[in-house]
Amino acid sequence: MIIHTKPNASTTDVNRLAKATKSILFHNGEHNVLVTPSKMQSPPDGFSEIIDQAWPMTSDLQLGSKSYKDQTREIKLGDISIGGNTKNTIVIAGPCSVESESQIRESAVFMQKMGITALRGGCYKPRTSPYSFQGMGLDGLKLLSKMREEFGFTIVSEVRDATHVHHVIEHADVIQVGAKSMYDHGILRACAKTQKPVLIKRGFGTTLQEFAQAAEFVLSGGNPNVMLCERGIRTFETKTRFTLDLCGVAWLKENTNLPIILDPSHALGYRYGISDLSKACVAMGIDGLLVEVHPNPAEAKSDAAQQLYHEQFSKLLNDIRPVADAVCRKIV
Ligand code: PEP
Ligand code: MN
Repeated sequence: MIIHTKPNASTTDVNRLAKATKSILFHNGEHNVLVTPSKMQSPPDGFSEIIDQAWPMTSDLQLGSKSYKDQTREIKLGDISIGGNTKNTIVIAGPCSVESESQIRESAVFMQKMGITALRGGCYKPRTSPYSFQGMGLDGLKLLSKMREEFGFTIVSEVRDATHVHHVIEHADVIQVGAKSMYDHGILRACAKTQKPVLIKRGFGTTLQEFAQAAEFVLSGGNPNVMLCERGIRTFETKTRFTLDLCGVAWLKENTNLPIILDPSHALGYRYGISDLSKACVAMGIDGLLVEVHPNPAEAKSDAAQQLYHEQFSKLLNDIRPVADAVCRKIV
């Protein structure tokens, strides 16, 4: 259950209520918000004077649920908002990894020409082998900061462990929590302590309930700016890298109030079908699309098979626009 207390409730009474309900308590700028374990269906006796509103819940998908807020949260990514009443579908694009100044600059120049405002690039790469390129770390983040200053991009970059969340917060505008990191409570709790938007990617063996609950760690820590990113789950199929779970997307849209971003690149794992998949994603009326693009994919140090050549990405943008029009969405 979620409880909002009245503005005139005393701190002592609010704390008593939090204790009596075993709640997580935070202030959302307007109200004290208490989140009880979801089993609790009504507030305890003796507190009605200080309670403004209460929402019983059916599961631990609480702050992120449609039962709490029936409209998708509006989140600002630089000058662009997604969710709320906006109907915007933001395209987040760029290389898998930041590899060098010339590579990220070439990407930045191209993305600006394409009208893209959100540039992605990983600096702490969660690789499946310790012998693969692990990312440029802080040096890469500084290059992204430079691109932000020169071109005005909103920078999206990922964290791999809690010890460098502060670096990503400093140099990026959106913190990406990777599919392999989304169970790391150290990372999630660190992301809760900032107001920067957090993009949580679904683990490839993660149920929708677990995915939504990962977001609750950030939301209940006081950061309301959380987006969910479906990037493919593991199935029996081996011809594609993962399986993009569009049924899951339908569930998330129906049951959560969090903007939904889709990542066809990591799902398919190969360049050839990314444009088609992107059309399918946009047709679902999503809030954002995340696509990996590299100036020279054949030489990429990570995810070489799936990153698009610049001309492929340019074509993709043309391909998705009529689909966005058809579902009354605007590509931004
Ligand atoms: C990435 O975005 O480059 C990445 C590593 O994604 P994921 O965490 O979804 O594998
Ligand atoms: Mn990648």
